[in-house]
Amino acid sequence: MPKVTIEGKTVEVENGTTIIRAAAQAGIEIPHFCWHPGLSVAGNCRMCLVEIEKMPKLAIACATQVSDGMVVHVNSEKAIEARKAVLEFILINHPLDCPICDEAGECNLQDYTYSYGPGHSALEEAKNKKPKRVPLGPNVVYDAERCILCSRCIRVMDEVVKNPTLTFVERGDRVYIDTFPGKELNDPYSMNVIDVCPVGALTNRDYRFKARVWETSSTEGICAGCSRGCNINIWVRNNEILRLTPRFNPEVNSYWMCDNGRLNSFREVNSAERLNSPLVRKDGVLQEAGWDESLAHAADALKPFSKDEIAVFGSAYSSVEDNYILQKFAKQVLGTTNIDFLQHTIEGDQDNLLIRADKTPNSCGAREAGVVSSKGVDSKKIFELIAAGKIKALYVMDDDIAASKEIEELLTKLDVLIVNHWVKTKTTQLADVVFPSATFAEKYGTFVNFLGRVQMFRPAVSTLEQERVPGRFTMSRLDKFGSAFDKWNKGPRRNVRSSWEIISAVGNLLGGKMRYQSAQKVFDEIAQVAPSFKGLSYAKLGDRGALLSRQGSGSIGKKSKEEALVS
Ligand code: SF4
Ligand code: SF4
Repeated sequence: MPKVTIEGKTVEVENGTTIIRAAAQAGIEIPHFCWHPGLSVAGNCRMCLVEIEKMPKLAIACATQVSDGMVVHVNSEKAIEARKAVLEFILINHPLDCPICDEAGECNLQDYTYSYGPGHSALEEAKNKKPKRVPLGPNVVYDAERCILCSRCIRVMDEVVKNPTLTFVERGDRVYIDTFPGKELNDPYSMNVIDVCPVGALTNRDYRFKARVWETSSTEGICAGCSRGCNINIWVRNNEILRLTPRFNPEVNSYWMCDNGRLNSFREVNSAERLNSPLVRKDGVLQEAGWDESLAHAADALKPFSKDEIAVFGSAYSSVEDNYILQKFAKQVLGTTNIDFLQHTIEGDQDNLLIRADKTPNSCGAREAGVVSSKGVDSKKIFELIAAGKIKALYVMDDDIAASKEIEELLTKLDVLIVNHWVKTKTTQLADVVFPSATFAEKYGTFVNFLGRVQMFRPAVSTLEQERVPGRFTMSRLDKFGSAFDKWNKGPRRNVRSSWEIISAVGNLLGGKMRYQSAQKVFDEIAQVAPSFKGLSYAKLGDRGALLSRQGSGSIGKKSKEEALVS
């Protein structure tokens, strides 16, 4: 394997490795615009020019392969001078409108110009005028004056999405990007062009002009839009999620995510329908109540029923920790095995890139955590037993099971219905006690994706839980600006709790011993009792997750339709 020395640092790399990748392995960044690690090499921006000893001319680091003994200088006088000239050239027709550009603060052109640019322009002529604010499709707007013609957007659509939609039109200094005649940029993955654009030429129609990036915090999370579990960054200002962007995980989503997940998977977190207080039905009307009162009310309401008269529904929208506590509560405290959760699948809405037909993030995790029907009592049977008047009390965690008219009517037959959810739903409207629960963006937890990868998420939005139990939120992290995640989260905090905590509290009032300080402690217990989670911990999951141990999974889960599709 060749050894190359870059900026005085020697690394050994695979045959065929390019200088830019070898430098990355050595922890050295070579400035670049058109090169992207997930795309083919275009070599058109010339920003990555480096000086190589014994070579007469500078070479582009993105397309030049290393050879044994090669010595590369990224910051020699010649390389810096070339970089400065490239930047001056790129900026000739650039509008320099950073103060009103959405990309400012996270723009490669802005950053490199500050680091390497000439600081002035020799141009005296008027700048070229090009098309501005051109909608390329429902979600993406194009500003040709900011475009540096790197072709990343074209390559994403050609190579990743496999839907060639964009192309260069015109020539010379009039070139710009456009869709092919008769085409629109309306693919389910169209918004990935925004992420790869190194400048502010492509902007997100949903997010543009909502915030300056330095006013927001970004937190690592997992998309809850389907069972792929794409890794994301959640961008928040004043406790409101403003946008999601994909986060690199080669095992799950590479650099990409779908538009539906990006635009819709966080809407319920910001929803005006969010529940902000426990509710207890009094005189036929749901009324706000304190936590202690509602927890006691729920426990008292469940007491009169025998184990066969009670059923519980877990949720594929909730975390592994929530589902584990729910099944423990059902089996050990209530003594019932009437337990299941509902699938939410859209048949046919699946492709070979990312999108999965299962529109929940954790059906595999709910099953692995023990929310599985047994003794022939699955969700269908539970509904039959409710209809027959045999099941009289139901606990529903984080799911709107009354979405159909038929089930809605069935639920009215119950003597007691207790529901956890983050928004008002048809199910909460029928409940006797409602607990406002935290969403995936407000708590720690894990999801297991359809491939069996356990992935951790963290709170991106602050809630009152953080004031009440500050010790639970000690796994702090810093965003790219070095600020703690809640530096900008000055907005109102919701009065919500994680479902595992709510259910433990009800369980303890009924004589259970479910005392956990944090989701992490719940997960540690799962890793001890569930063979498929054996050896895992939050620390081991890191930011890329870890696979379940398949040898153990039979102990608590059956193979789902979704998993069967994969195998
Ligand atoms: S729009 Fe952005 S990604 Fe596309 S060519 Fe222009 S600068 Fe590159
Ligand atoms: S593919 Fe699924 S997990 Fe990924 S972004 Fe889309 S909805 Fe979210």
